[in-house]
Parts: sequence; structure tokens; C-alpha cells
Amino acid sequence: MKILPSTAAPGEGKIGGMKTASFQKPLGGGKVQCLLCPHGCVLAEGGTGRCRVRKVLGGTLRALAADKVVALHLDPVEKKPLYHVFPGAPVLSFATVGCNLSCRFCQNASISQFRGDPPPGDPLSAEEIVERAHTNRCPAVAATYTEPTVFFELAREVGLAARARGILNLWVTNGFISTQAGADLAGWLDGANVDLKSMRDETYREYCGGRLAPVLETIEGLHRRGVWVEVTTLVIPGMNDSPEELREAARFLASLSPDIPWHVTAFHPDFRMLDRGPTPAGKLIEAVEIGREEGLRFVYPGNVRIRGGGDTLCPSCGDVVIRRSGFALEANRLRGGACPGCGTKIAGIWEMAAG
Ligand code: SF4
Repeated sequence: MKILPSTAAPGEGKIGGMKTASFQKPLGGGKVQCLLCPHGCVLAEGGTGRCRVRKVLGGTLRALAADKVVALHLDPVEKKPLYHVFPGAPVLSFATVGCNLSCRFCQNASISQFRGDPPPGDPLSAEEIVERAHTNRCPAVAATYTEPTVFFELAREVGLAARARGILNLWVTNGFISTQAGADLAGWLDGANVDLKSMRDETYREYCGGRLAPVLETIEGLHRRGVWVEVTTLVIPGMNDSPEELREAARFLASLSPDIPWHVTAFHPDFRMLDRGPTPAGKLIEAVEIGREEGLRFVYPGNVRIRGGGDTLCPSCGDVVIRRSGFALEANRLRGGACPGCGTKIAGIWEMAAG
């Protein structure tokens, strides 16, 4: 792991990964239920949840990875991807191990699917992480790479500390979080990219070990509560790439808001899904067209070079207001969050709020 330099004094919060877990409910007979995600694991003493980072010890559910940071990097915000948040900004991105899904096509399986007790990682407090963001002139921090839900306690502390310093906080998430935790999240999160892996519940169950409905609820709930939401669909040949399913996804998002950016990204064989080839660029172009037909104003192909595909166009006059090449920002022509040609406001977080 590459740890960035810090000017922070050693902070509090080095709790040895034994923090009391949020969203737990004692049951009879010494059992505890975790209410953090829709799995709702019921665990006896010594039992570990499906995410492998929450464990019952001494009758209490503990967050094993709460201060065990395994990844800490500076990434462009475009890499999250979040295209409508501070274009070109460096974002301090962090993660612990663990995930509550088990996607066969995971691109970060070495850390998301890590099995081991105790989990690896360097002890870093929320204050230290935020201090490093400040030192490196990051306008935002991001909980990403694995699944922030399962390191909720650390992500929440970072989120609150970031807000206190005028730094935005972002999540890149699978959206598989309980209603209760999702409502809490919406109270302090600024922006999120939520995966929408399929519009078929059976696909979520078979390929990811999850369910569709909670993910749709998360997308809807975050958007309704004012969190800036972008959505990513990894388009996988033979799994979720039919025009009908892509159209259902686009229609769902457009029903919430035509301003929700939809990233349709290319699959590459990885982890336990090596039985098919990468997504052809033509399929992503088709997905972009479907998204636009369904009324979405901002649809971006990703993980593949398509000329102009990463650009943000004004939905009124069609001018390029932001030009990108891969993860690199080439030009930002927005003026006060609006198209410089026709003055149309472009949805997004373009400037820090005053005060
Ligand atoms: S967060 Fe982990 S322990 Fe809690 S319900 Fe989900 S998978 Fe189970």
C-alpha cells in the first residue's frame, strides 16, 4: 500500500480494528443480528458475517477493519467515475478489505474478497485521512475500491471530519446497504457512484450473491435525499447486455431524474468470470444510444476509448462543456455551472458551497 505523507500528529481512533459495529441488534441466546446491509446476518459468538469483516466477540458485533486501511491513493475524480463533481480534481481514495457481495467479475477481488482474520491494513484514523486530503489539496475524499458499507464506521467518521474541514465526501458503492444505514448515509454523504449491475434479481443472486431491490432503493433514496448520484453499469456480454435490460436500467434512472449520469463501462475478463471476452465498443455505443433515447442527458461509455465519449455536452445546445481524454480533464468550459454558449445550467457539484 502506498501511504501518502501526512503532517498530522498521530490521532485518536487507533482502536485495533475492534470498534463496536453500528446497526446491530442483540437477539436471544447470545446471538446478534447485523442490520448494516440487507443480508441481515445473524451471528453467534465468534461468528463472522458474509462480508468477513464484522464479527461477534464478547457478545457484541465488532467492525474488524474499522481502522485497517489497505489502500490509500490520489486518483482523479474521473476514475471513480464521478464526472459531475469537481472535474479534474484529485481525490484521496481509501479502503479497507471486505465486501458484502461476491461478484464473479470483481476487478478488485484481492482486497474485496479477502479472507483472513484479522484483516490486513495500516491503522489510520479518520482525522489522519482527512489531514492527508487537506495536505494534498484534495477537495474531496472517497471511500472506494472495495465496499464502503462494510467499513461504515470509518467511512462515516471520515465523512464527518471531511465536512468539518470543507472537504466533500464521496462513495463508490454497490448500493447493497440497509434502508436504515442508507438513511444515515444520506445525512452526511455528498456524492456517490452506485453500481447497477443488472435489472434482473436473478442475476444479482446468481452472479453477485445479492439482490436487486435494495440497490434500486439506495439509488432512489440517495437521490431523493439530495446526495449527488451517478450510476455505473458494467456491461457484461451475455449477462446484462440485452437491449431490453439496458433500456430498463435507463428508464429507471430517467424516472428519477434525466440528470443522473449513467456510466456504461466495458467488462474485461477477471476473477471468476473468464468464460467470455471483453465488451465490444459497439455494445457501449448502443447502450449510450439507448440511454439517450430513454431521456438521460448524460451517458458515458467507460473503460474503452471512444472518441468524444467522455465529453459532457450541453443538453440544450449540444456544445462540449467539458472535454476529457480517458481520466484526464482536457477542458472545462463551464461558467458558474452553466454552458458558456446558451447559459443552460448543467447538473452537478461544480463549486464548493459558500459558508
Ligand atoms: S454488513 Fe456484513 S455482517 Fe452485516 S449484514 Fe452485511 S454481510 Fe452481514
